[in-house]
Amino acid sequence: IMGMCELNLAEDISDTVRENSENIRVSGKNLLNIVNDLLDFSKIESGKMQLATTEYRLSDILSDAMNMASARKGKKKIEFAVDCDPDIPDYLRGDPSRIRQIMINLLTNAIKYTNEGGILLTVRSRKESYGINLIISVKDSGIGIRKEDIRRIYDAYDRFDIEKTNSVEGTGLGLPITKQLVELMGGIISVKSIYGEGTEFKATIPQKVSDNKPIAHF
Ligand code: ATP
Ligand code: MG
Repeated sequence: IMGMCELNLAEDISDTVRENSENIRVSGKNLLNIVNDLLDFSKIESGKMQLATTEYRLSDILSDAMNMASARKGKKKIEFAVDCDPDIPDYLRGDPSRIRQIMINLLTNAIKYTNEGGILLTVRSRKESYGINLIISVKDSGIGIRKEDIRRIYDAYDRFDIEKTNSVEGTGLGLPITKQLVELMGGIISVKSIYGEGTEFKATIPQKVSDNKPIAHF
């Protein structure tokens, strides 16, 4: 459906047809995201989620995530900053698409639930016998999560603070999927939040290193 829309958009068409096709394309993409989340969730539930092990560049994932975050932020008047330790090894071994998914889920939430201030993505690493622990933190100055809601944050389909989040699209599957992926990789995820002030999610994920070349070399 999205491909056919793109073919139409490449044609010489009227403004109305262009706007309609653009709407179909965006709706198709949103629907695809929901279907993919449902499939991921169901795969995890039935114990059939398989992780890949391939060599990848952390810098590729970071630039993808940064592009996505800037696009998702759109015209929203919030800052988006990235602080990445330049010494992290760039060439790692693991499942790059799932690492990207974890980073993007946390960033998307931060953007969706922040209306003032901004978001800070911090990436660090700690040397371990098997490689590194990759530490991804996403901190926002958004609406925050109430203390009584925090313990249900990883439950499927749960969404909180409905008065504020009603107008924000979401299914309530992002965090449960993120937590399960982190844990399948042998990692842990934690959250700190102050209601009305902001939230920080931190994922610590063991990854193998395939080359010690640092992510930024000057
Ligand atoms: P989606 O399935 O599209 O991710 P979602 O964002 O609603 O939908 P989750 O990512 O699982 O679902 O998050 C669950 C709920 O936790 C959200 O609906 C929101 O109420 C709350 N939440 C998650 N991240 C944040 C955040 N950074 N700040 C405030 N509330 C948050
Ligand atoms: Mg989400």
